[in-house]
Amino acid sequence: MTAITGGLVCAHHHLYSALARGMPAPPRTPTNFQEILEQVWWRLDAALDLEMIRWSAMLGALEALESGTTAIVDHHESPNAIEGSLDVIAAACAEVGVRVVAAYGITDRHGPDGARRGLAENERYLRAGGRGLVGIHAAFTCSDASLEAAAGLAADLGVGVHIHVCEGTGDADASRRLRGLARPDWLLAHCVHLPTEHGLPGTVLHNPLSNLHNAVGYANPARFANPVALGTDGIGANMLETFRLAFVLQRSVDVTCGPGVAWSWLETGWDLVPEARADRVTWSYGPIDPWHVAYTPGIRPLRVEVDGRVVLDGGVATCVDATEVRTKAREQAARLHARL
Ligand SMILES: [Zn+2]
Repeated sequence: MTAITGGLVCAHHHLYSALARGMPAPPRTPTNFQEILEQVWWRLDAALDLEMIRWSAMLGALEALESGTTAIVDHHESPNAIEGSLDVIAAACAEVGVRVVAAYGITDRHGPDGARRGLAENERYLRAGGRGLVGIHAAFTCSDASLEAAAGLAADLGVGVHIHVCEGTGDADASRRLRGLARPDWLLAHCVHLPTEHGLPGTVLHNPLSNLHNAVGYANPARFANPVALGTDGIGANMLETFRLAFVLQRSVDVTCGPGVAWSWLETGWDLVPEARADRVTWSYGPIDPWHVAYTPGIRPLRVEVDGRVVLDGGVATCVDATEVRTKAREQAARLHARL
């Protein structure tokens, strides 16, 4: 029995991390979240060039489509390849046939000039008509001036801000620093250590697999008054799997809860990218509802239409050659890993 739904939305992704698979272990084993950032992700993003970014986005978009995800809210950083990076990501997603809402995560980690160039990339991309948001890495890596500049640019352009908030304990004062800047169209990724009464408007982006992997704790997003949407934080874009994990994690602290709350988080994705709801995904199993999906492994899309165009048929991508994408991505991953 098959079923048809709208296209799913991954509300927090890092397409560049598609090339991380198989990377060499860092010189020292990280012992906490800050060290994971310093020894893994901040070394990886600094080594990216535009060709690597292109093939990581192609692979990430392909894998999204193969999971029935037709819209990706991406958060990108490549401090040594900033200019034009958002165009490369948008073009790769368009080639595969997946919608993307792009943002460049600005940071002062590489000095104020790095933040300025990141902000300029957001502005250039958005003013040229790109679908996106203004990105900020996180409050704890930005000066107040950079936070204010990003918030101001977003308000000027009529878009929201996509930012990591309180993912680890090192960002604990984010709610104080962002108060007065955040607006309802902001996307607040993680919020693990955000106080329940935090006073920030915006949608909380819950990333259960990433939070478990980084051992940062459980965000327990049901405690917030904010809307909640689901993301992967760069570990693929399989949103049915992400829903299942969000459900059982919630269940781990409240055995009385059913899958309906986590399902509503999945559906919040359609508030962020409404056009994805009109995409059509034909699934290998039906019905697609919280009680069925929570207990049915291996559901996969057979056919996907985005904006009326068939982009996956018989489980196979139609706009690109999936084997070629995987081959090129592996070549670029080898180049990337050699730089680490
Ligand atoms: Zn993230």
